[in-house]
Amino acid sequence: MIKENVRKILSELPEGIQLVGAAKTRTPEEIQEAIDAGLSIFGENYVQEAERAFQVIGQKAKWHMIGHLQSNKAKKAVRIFDMIETVDSIKLAKAIDKACRKIEKVMPGLIEINSGEEPQKAGVMPEDAVSLVKEISELGNIRIMGLMTMGPFSGDPEDARPYFIKTREIFEDIRKMDLAGVEMKYLSMGMSNSYRVALEEGANMVRIGTKIFGERQ
Ligand SMILES: *Cc1c(COP(=O)(O)O)cnc(C)c1O
Repeated sequence: MIKENVRKILSELPEGIQLVGAAKTRTPEEIQEAIDAGLSIFGENYVQEAERAFQVIGQKAKWHMIGHLQSNKAKKAVRIFDMIETVDSIKLAKAIDKACRKIEKVMPGLIEINSGEEPQKAGVMPEDAVSLVKEISELGNIRIMGLMTMGPFSGDPEDARPYFIKTREIFEDIRKMDLAGVEMKYLSMGMSNSYRVALEEGANMVRIGTKIFGERQ
């Protein structure tokens, strides 16, 4: 089923939209099936799980960190990931920058926006996004390339729309600032149940797990 699911989603996505296969809990074999059907980017939530998948699959795919990253895991993370979608503090950005400098890499990063402004959740509060981007733009080995958001959990995708709209507005505001060292290119919003709404609201990167791999155990 994985192959059929990937082919169907890829064929239905508008031109220019990047599909990230959210691979948490999936085996390297399942990921390989998705690759065989044409999927080229995978999102991982945990460094350890990403390491296991990376050992088998390696650079046959691109790897995005989509889970919360602790600063003390930055060193391992930068060796695996091609993008970190969940940059939400200057502390984490500096840890990524430092680890990348040592291996002569520039890491593309997205700022995770806590668009629901939920205190317990990861991501930077909307009103703090601009100052965080400005601070990170001073660092030489991490390059901000857009924004990512989850939005509050809900079974109804329409509930996510206002949070996608809000994140899109922040994205546009920062883009218009035309900051040196910042390239506002990617807007990562939408999961299996909400990606259609996200696309309507300007997402150009969607993160889909269940609709590709089936329900998680
Ligand atoms: C699991 C996950 C997804 C995909 O969720 P599905 O509902 O399975 O499509 C997207 N983004 C993040 C950050 C995730 O952790």
